[in-house]
Amino acid sequence: MFSVTKLLAKLKKPIPRKLSWRLTLIYAALFSAVLIVLNAGTLFGVRYYMVEQAKQQVRSSTENTLGRLSASAGAANLSDPAYLSEAGTVSEINIAITNPSGKQISSSNKTLAGLPGPSSGIGNILVYESHDRHFIVENTRITETNQMIGYLQVSYDMRSEYRFIKLLFAFMALADFLGVAFAILTGFLLSRRALRPIDTLTKTARKISVGDLSRRVEVGPADDELSRLAVTFNEMIERLQNSFEKQSRFVSDASHELRTPIAVIKGYADLIDQWAKNDPQVLEESVAAIRKEANGMAALVEQLLFLARGDNKKLKPQKENFPASGLLHEIVEESKLVAPNHCFEETVPENLRIYADRKLLKQALRALVDNAVKYTPEKGTIQLAASDDDTGVKIHVTDTGIGISENELPKIFDRFYRVDEDRSREKGGSGLGLSIVKWIVDVHGGNISVESEKGKGTSVSIHLPKK
Ligand code: ADP
Repeated sequence: MFSVTKLLAKLKKPIPRKLSWRLTLIYAALFSAVLIVLNAGTLFGVRYYMVEQAKQQVRSSTENTLGRLSASAGAANLSDPAYLSEAGTVSEINIAITNPSGKQISSSNKTLAGLPGPSSGIGNILVYESHDRHFIVENTRITETNQMIGYLQVSYDMRSEYRFIKLLFAFMALADFLGVAFAILTGFLLSRRALRPIDTLTKTARKISVGDLSRRVEVGPADDELSRLAVTFNEMIERLQNSFEKQSRFVSDASHELRTPIAVIKGYADLIDQWAKNDPQVLEESVAAIRKEANGMAALVEQLLFLARGDNKKLKPQKENFPASGLLHEIVEESKLVAPNHCFEETVPENLRIYADRKLLKQALRALVDNAVKYTPEKGTIQLAASDDDTGVKIHVTDTGIGISENELPKIFDRFYRVDEDRSREKGGSGLGLSIVKWIVDVHGGNISVESEKGKGTSVSIHLPKK
């Protein structure tokens, strides 16, 4: 049974898969269609013009002959060859004169057999075609003193015109054939050339693997769609490479970070195993050290998890509007408990409100205050201040601690970066604190800056934009 879907499937099948071929075929089909329409138009136009010319010729010959006949003033001898003289001036014209019953009296050409009878189509010009012969024919009555004395038939033989049209047709068909063949060839070569960068792109993309992201696609000199695609592709690989490298650096830094506490714990476990079983003091010291390292590891794992969730965009800030004084006061009170030997100051206008995720902002400010405590000797002062202007809220955490040298400042927000590794480790720092603070500020659309002078102190400022 006839099935449309099967037919469509059949029609679909032969379409080549290569884009260059498809483009070539579409291009060739359109080109052929345009050529055919143009040529058919030309042929019809030429034929129409020639037929009209022939009609005019026939009409003027008829009029001239009738004029000559009426000039005889009632004494026309229809067999007089003078009435056929029009046929002598134009070689394609034939003139035949018949009596009223249709019998031929005189004719300029004897071989007009097959033309319509002299009485048919009176008053019209006939386009007559028979056995590959083409004529324009006009039949008229010959009248004398209101009496019909015969018929005049003027015909135009279009043999040479049709020969010309046939020649023109053959020439056009040949030109069309050559044109289409040329279109297919050039179309194929051009589209293949134009699409070559895509092939190169595909080949390079195939070669690129996670292990080797260093390859890049060659970008052509022209500023076209394909070179823009290549540039975009390269940029995408660049981003992938960066993030992949960042990821592996993060994993290796994290492993490196965990290696030390694990080694310490292992060392103490061996110590307990060998010596401390019978020495309660060593045992106590060892357990305390293991606990300290385990706490450090737990804090590090927490930080790592936080950053991993942040990187995967799983942490979304839940922003709300709340008073700044409450938050800063809370932080100061909590910090006083942990660092009773430091002085804390807070300067916050009573009505100042912040639009942020309270939990995340508290975490960031806690990390800044923890750093201030860590790197400020006892009795030093740590100040929390907040203010606002047209752009938003600014919060400063300032200390009178050891400070950071100018060349270290740009690096302190890098993950795992510590100015003095041993000192920082000893104080429980992992080098992740400030990168977490920066991440939190960034997701709020804010920015963070540090001013510091070695030996004098450090001031970290967070700017949060208005709602
Ligand atoms: P850590 O957890 O080791 O403190 P951070 O990312 O919080 O790591 O800080 C990175 C480095 O910046 C620290 O190692 C420290 O040397 C320096 N730093 C941070 N805050 C201060 C500060 N208030 N005063 C002096 N140095 C600081």
